[in-house]
Amino acid sequence: MSLDQDRLKAINGITNRHFSPTFCFAKWYHTTIYLQTGETHSCYHPAPHKIDVDELLTNPSALHNTKHKKLERKEMLEGKQCVGCQYCWNIENMGDDYVSDRHIRSGSIYNEERLQEIKFNPWDFNVNPEYIEVSFGNECNFRCGYCHPKASSRYHNEIRQHGPYTMSKNHRCDIDWFRVYEEDSNPYVRAWWKWWPEVSKTLNILRITGGEPTIQKSTYRLFDELEKDPKPHLELNVNSNLGGKERQLEKFTDGVNSLLTQNKIKTLNCLQVWTLGVSVLNIFATDLISKCLNVILIISCATQLRKLRL
Ligand code: SF4
Ligand code: SF4
Repeated sequence: MSLDQDRLKAINGITNRHFSPTFCFAKWYHTTIYLQTGETHSCYHPAPHKIDVDELLTNPSALHNTKHKKLERKEMLEGKQCVGCQYCWNIENMGDDYVSDRHIRSGSIYNEERLQEIKFNPWDFNVNPEYIEVSFGNECNFRCGYCHPKASSRYHNEIRQHGPYTMSKNHRCDIDWFRVYEEDSNPYVRAWWKWWPEVSKTLNILRITGGEPTIQKSTYRLFDELEKDPKPHLELNVNSNLGGKERQLEKFTDGVNSLLTQNKIKTLNCLQVWTLGVSVLNIFATDLISKCLNVILIISCATQLRKLRL
């Protein structure tokens, strides 16, 4: 057994002792939030569920601390296998030697302070997560084939104009069963900014995902908030296609550079959507390289990552 597996086993023993054999730290401290549709899940395995927009008026942390998630936490504390996490139970049900994402995520999130916080609070307390992945909107300048109208406005427009794909059973991309809010009039985005002063105190990692963050207003509002009220402990990650117009990328890189050079955030990593062509990078790389050292590194990383994956 490797050192990593030893460590995971030890942490599993601790959570078994203090809570139960189905406890997962990710249910408390890890979240993905899709503000354009008002949905959330603790990790990618449980299906996203709806956030109650009325609850946000008095409790903006319900973007993460939904009633649904709190009930799942309760089930975990009671040793039950909540329905949404079947992916992990399938692996664990194969035997004690199998390592599920529950073990891995709990291993990376565990510390004594978080353990005590859960132990000495009621099951339905509102948690400040340590990791958030947020999508501010579906505005995107691309329509990648594997994407979805929920995440890409261009894709959404295409389906609205021409209808869903009729030759495909599992990727028809129908759009009549959900609503996508505009960034400017979105009650979930409003709740996010109400929550930000509180959640940003202890948030360690924020990942902005798409749509395309470099063309969305909320990305620049975030930069402004961080300029005014720095978070030197915050790791900021951005999923971007890096294929926006040059002036948009300049605005983005200027914002990033300003935050980094003044140590207003800890670090920034930009992950380019890897299936895009090298041509996208080539169009802008020369200009960006001459303007922004941080983006040279970002592009270099993104290119290497893409090469690895191809
Ligand atoms: S138990 Fe598994 S599926 Fe559920 S939140 Fe944890 S890692 Fe995700
Ligand atoms: S760039 Fe990202 S958000 Fe836009 S269509 Fe492609 S995968 Fe979807």
